[in-house]
Amino acid sequence: MEERTLHIVIVGHVDHGKSTLIGRLFYDTGCLPPDKLEEIKRTSESLGKELEFAYIMDHLEEERNRGITIDIAHTFFKTDKRRYVIIDAPGHKEFLKNMISGSSQAEAALLLIDASEGVREQTMRHCYILGLLGIGQVAVLINKMDMVGYSREVFEDVRTQIEEVLGRLDISASYILPISARLGENVAKRSEKLDWYDGPTVLEALDSFHPLKVEDKDLRFPVQDVYQIDGRTITVGRVEAGTLSAGQEVVVFPGGMKARVKEIKKFMEDDIKEAPVGDCVGVVLEGCEPKRGQVLTRSVAPTVTDTLRANIFWIVEKRYDLGIPLTLRCATQAAGGRIEKIFRRFDPATIEVVEKDAKHISPAEVAEVEIKLKDPIAVDRFTDIPEMGRFVLEHAGHPVAGGIII
Ligand code: GDP
Repeated sequence: MEERTLHIVIVGHVDHGKSTLIGRLFYDTGCLPPDKLEEIKRTSESLGKELEFAYIMDHLEEERNRGITIDIAHTFFKTDKRRYVIIDAPGHKEFLKNMISGSSQAEAALLLIDASEGVREQTMRHCYILGLLGIGQVAVLINKMDMVGYSREVFEDVRTQIEEVLGRLDISASYILPISARLGENVAKRSEKLDWYDGPTVLEALDSFHPLKVEDKDLRFPVQDVYQIDGRTITVGRVEAGTLSAGQEVVVFPGGMKARVKEIKKFMEDDIKEAPVGDCVGVVLEGCEPKRGQVLTRSVAPTVTDTLRANIFWIVEKRYDLGIPLTLRCATQAAGGRIEKIFRRFDPATIEVVEKDAKHISPAEVAEVEIKLKDPIAVDRFTDIPEMGRFVLEHAGHPVAGGIII
């Protein structure tokens, strides 16, 4: 069993089967407590229905509202391979904000489409959101195949529709699969009724996705401060990706200077051999003295640039007009600059494009922009190393927007 939990988000038009699929996933993986199942059976019977899987979701939600389960985000199901947490995607606005701020981050997405209805308005919006957030691992589930007689033609037709929409947004789905969430066809077990389909089931598709493992990435150690202690220079920071090891050669960006890690120190602890992701340590370097804001890396260089393409979420009541100076903060770096272009601005609640090639951003809007800085900074894509691809924009010392680099 992998140690890492994969965080997924399930999106799709209302009534296309999200709750039902969630219920199915919990039920089929045996992650539903027996008393819960009994309760749901009773509720279903009293309403004269067969087992209604959507109730599982309602129950989980109800518990959350009553404060029993602390957070639905902590309920998980598991396969032989790993655990999965389903991230709640409440309103678009909240969801976008949480994703951008990093308080919840989906590593993969399941997009549901009702086979009998095809691509609908919210399907398109949700595709947009996946694009805005740069979620690269997407499985499209064409649901309710039982309602269309498990027809391959219907499946191919919906598949063509969704491929066209995703193509326009530069998203390529890893899988497009026919399922019946209600009957469990192709969810945990392969469907005999869909024998013309030979791709993976939902669980197999999920198991093939990769968790975002920053520990396996190249080293990223943004320098917070540089101190002089007993005539020695100590460079202090936090390991955001990879591992910092004593003796290691490092490259400092921006600049590309080379150095060697002579010693790693922690408060009251000397001679540390390795510092993993999350560790705040001091380092004695040989060969160069970096400054606050620079980033120690190992073999994979970050992108050093003064021009960023990003999606931002405007959080203050005052609007932004092109040209107003801003300060961008990413990891420990800060650089002055401004937004040069606003390609599109969106209403965050509907994800409708309000204006293209805009001259301003209104309060609470989401926008796709180009930011021009006075000095280059070292960054990574948000989907590769979140801490190096996430930033805050400030005006006159106050945060005005959060953003991610795409
Ligand atoms: P949500 O709004 O996306 O969460 O959709 P629900 O999960 O609440 O499903 C809406 C309705 O579609 C419910 O009555 C479900 O029972 C039904 N439904 C969901 N999946 C399937 C399916 O695979 N086949 C059929 N026939 N009905 C389904």
